[in-house]
Amino acid sequence: MENTIVAISTAAGNSGIGIIRLSGKNSFEIVKKIFVPKNKQQEIKGYSIKYGNIINPENSEIIDEVLVSYFIGPNSFTREDMCEINTHGGMVVERKILDICLKNGADLAEPGEFTKRAFLNGRIDLAQAESVIDLINAKSDKEAKESIKGLKGELSEKIGQIEEKITDVMVNIEVVVDYPEYDIDEMTNKEALEKLAIIENMLEELEHSFDKGKLIRDGIKTVIFGKPNAGKSSLLNAILNEDRAIVSEIEGTTRDSIEEYINVGGLALKLIDTAGVRKTDNIIEKIGVDKSKKLAEESDLIIAIFDLSKDLEEEDKQIIDIIRNKNAIIVLNKVDIKKENNDIENQLTDLCKPIIKMSALKREGLEDLYNEIIKIFSLNEILNSNDILITNERHKNQIRKAKESIKEGIEAIKNSMPIDISSIHIKQALNELGEITGKNASEDIINEIFRKFCLGK
Ligand code: GDP
Repeated sequence: MENTIVAISTAAGNSGIGIIRLSGKNSFEIVKKIFVPKNKQQEIKGYSIKYGNIINPENSEIIDEVLVSYFIGPNSFTREDMCEINTHGGMVVERKILDICLKNGADLAEPGEFTKRAFLNGRIDLAQAESVIDLINAKSDKEAKESIKGLKGELSEKIGQIEEKITDVMVNIEVVVDYPEYDIDEMTNKEALEKLAIIENMLEELEHSFDKGKLIRDGIKTVIFGKPNAGKSSLLNAILNEDRAIVSEIEGTTRDSIEEYINVGGLALKLIDTAGVRKTDNIIEKIGVDKSKKLAEESDLIIAIFDLSKDLEEEDKQIIDIIRNKNAIIVLNKVDIKKENNDIENQLTDLCKPIIKMSALKREGLEDLYNEIIKIFSLNEILNSNDILITNERHKNQIRKAKESIKEGIEAIKNSMPIDISSIHIKQALNELGEITGKNASEDIINEIFRKFCLGK
C-alpha cells in the first residue's frame, strides 16, 4: 500500500485513554515530526514504547503527554510499519492529534482499512477478517469463542482440507480429459463418485452447522405471552435486573422495538417485542391475535405465563392455542399467592410442554426457567462442542453453492456425460469455496465486507 493511514481507534467520547493508530511505510517518519520523546535516543525498536509529548510542529505547542508504541512490519497487525499513540482520552485531544497526523502526510483510514490491509498483505484471510467483526459484535461468551476459532483460522483450515480433496478428484479427472484417447476408466469414475460423495457430505455437515451457529449468532428469539397482570413485566424485570443478565440494548428500526439480549448459560436470548410487553397491558387484545401469531411464528421460543392466583380465562385459552405446536415453556406465575384448589397445571399438562412454577415478583424459579431453556436447545451440547460452527451467512451460502456444484458434478458422471462437464462443476465448487477465504473473492465482495467494520479497526 502506497499511503500511510491514520484513525482514532478507540470509541468516541471521553475515556481513560484514547488510541490513534497509523499504518504504512511513512508511519515512523510522520510520528518523528510530531512526537518529542523524553529520551532523545532516536533508535526505533519493534514492540517498544516511548514516552513523550505530541507537539504541533508549526508552533511547537504541546498537545498531550503520550505513549507511542512501535511495530516494525511485517511484525504488526497490518504487516506494515505501525504506530499507536496512547493519549489521555478525550475527543478534543484525539481530534487534534488526528489532524496533525493528517497535515503531516497521513490519510484518513476508511472503516476496516487496517484489517483490510492485514488481509491484502496476506496476514489473515477473508474468513479470519470477518471473524474480527464477529468478535467485536459478539453478544455472548460462546459467540466470542466461535469468533476466536474463526480468527485462528480453524474454518479456513477446514475449507482448505475440503479444497484439497476436490483438487485430488480434479487431478484424476483432468488426466482423462487431457488424454481422451484412453478409454474412460470405469475405475476412475467409481473412485471419483466415492470421493465426491464424501466431499458432498462434508459440505452438507458444515452447511447444517449454520443452524446451530445461528442460535449462537442471533440468539434465541424469545417472546413472552400472558394475559394482563399475569406477570410479564415482572418476569422481564426479574430477568433483566439480574446483573449477569443484560448484555445490550439495541435500538430497533422503529421506536417501539427495543431488542434486549440476556445471557443464558453462555448464549444470548434475544427478547423480541419487549417494548410491546412493557407498554401494552394486554398483549393479545391490544396487539391482536394475528400479530401474536406472527410473533409466535418468528420466535424460536415462547414463554407463556399463567397466573396461579386466578382460574384460566378466555385470554389464557387464546395463548394455549397459539403455543400448542410451538417451542414453548409454560410459566405458572405467582406461586406465592396460588389460589387454593387451582388446577391450571392439570389443564395444561396435555400440551406436553415443560412447566415451571415461579414467583416473578420474588424472583424465585428463574434458575429453573434457565435450565429448561438450556435443555430445550441442547445448549450444553452446542456450548461444549469443538466442531466448527458456521455462524456467518455469507460462508453458509458459499458452502451451499459449492455443495450444489459437487452434486451436479456427481450427476454428470452418473449420467455418463462427457467428463469435462463434471470437471466444470467441480471446478466451480472450488471457486465457491475460494470466495470464503478470499483466494478468489471479487473486489466488490471484499469492499462490502470491510464496509461493515468500524472506523479505526
Ligand atoms: P403484566 O401485565 O403481565 O406485565 O403483569 P405485571 O408484571 O405488571 O404484574 C401484575 C401484578 O402482579 C403486579 O402488581 C405485580 O407486582 C404482580 N405480580 C407479578 N408477579 C407476581 C408474583 O409472582 N407474585 C405476586 N404475589 N405478585 C406478582
